[in-house]
Amino acid sequence: SISSFKMDGGGNVKVVVRVRGFLPREIERGAECLIQMNPLNQATTLLVPNDTDPANKQSKMRRTLEEKTFTFDNSFWSYDEKDEHYAHQEDVYNSLGEEFLDHNFEGYHTCIFAYGQTGSGKSYTMMGTPEHRGLIPRTCEDLFQRIADAQNDTPNISYNVRVSYFEVYNEHVRDLLVPVASNQPPYYLKIRESPTEGPYIKDLTDAPVRNLAEIMKYMRIGDASRTTASTKMNDTSSRSHAVFTIMLKQIHHDMDTDESTERVARIRLVDLAGSERAKATEATGARLREGSNINKSLTTLGRVIAALADPKHSRPGKRNKDVVPYRDSILTWLLKDSLGGNSKTAMIACIAPSDYDETLSTLRYADQAK
Ligand code: ADP
Repeated sequence: SISSFKMDGGGNVKVVVRVRGFLPREIERGAECLIQMNPLNQATTLLVPNDTDPANKQSKMRRTLEEKTFTFDNSFWSYDEKDEHYAHQEDVYNSLGEEFLDHNFEGYHTCIFAYGQTGSGKSYTMMGTPEHRGLIPRTCEDLFQRIADAQNDTPNISYNVRVSYFEVYNEHVRDLLVPVASNQPPYYLKIRESPTEGPYIKDLTDAPVRNLAEIMKYMRIGDASRTTASTKMNDTSSRSHAVFTIMLKQIHHDMDTDESTERVARIRLVDLAGSERAKATEATGARLREGSNINKSLTTLGRVIAALADPKHSRPGKRNKDVVPYRDSILTWLLKDSLGGNSKTAMIACIAPSDYDETLSTLRYADQAK
């Protein structure tokens, strides 16, 4: 079983890492596992070819390896199912999703991001498969279970749940709950700013949901819409950020005074664009612009989270000298309401077992975010 690191009152940022097992193509090419995890101290070690060793320049086969170790709040070993420390979808939910839903019922906004290269397990972790459901469907299920329980225990509290699902592609926002019209170009929404509510997406579908079946229906509509658009537009899904948002409103009726008070929490579950797309070193034209937009949003997100993790930031009366750079990308700008103040954020760094350069850059990114 996985030991869970509980955030105490002061910690608003949690950074975890998850390594997946080999895919058939990796087994085929005889890939070796370059990752080790220590379940006792949550350390993740990557074995990297030692570039300073001249022998490595001559032969890739006899290279020497150097260890790079990082420590995170949790290290999920999802490499070999036979291993006793194997982290199943359920374990990831139990040690992260559940705790975040607790925060939501306490009235906090939360964001959970999956970061990593394409194929590292981001959508498996967030969405999963029908047999191995990820954080999003499990959060939805637990949410409605808790509401059902609460309606028996605390009948003076009523609940209102809404859902939206959008993606940010090339600094444009697309509503995933609006069906993609055939032979039509994708339709982008405008971003507005309200003096009281801050930035918001104009005309974004914000659907009321009464039960698990309804929210799952929207989840599937959004996923299908993401896939359809992606197929038409040359695999955009690895180049877009998908943001699934649940809005939980708790309405507390005071029987004595007959007054109601509301508590609103936004639950953001984000599948980020493939981190390798931020490099696009050989790209030109549209691809280059796309890559630099992804780079900008991932870099800004990293800086925003690092700023939130830094306790100096929450100190009242702090000068605006190193102000949190929300405005530098559409993603962070839109998530501003869920990324500051008292909200709780988790970054799940997803890694493949045998890809040292992408994995090293993912681990470094995650490391600077904490
Ligand atoms: P990404 O969203 O980062 O591009 P995916 O989630 O699509 O990556 O994962 C790539 C492949 O690896 C998929 O076939 C997925 O089912 C599989 N996979 C990823 N993580 C795991 C895991 N922890 N256990 C089993 N299979 C996984």
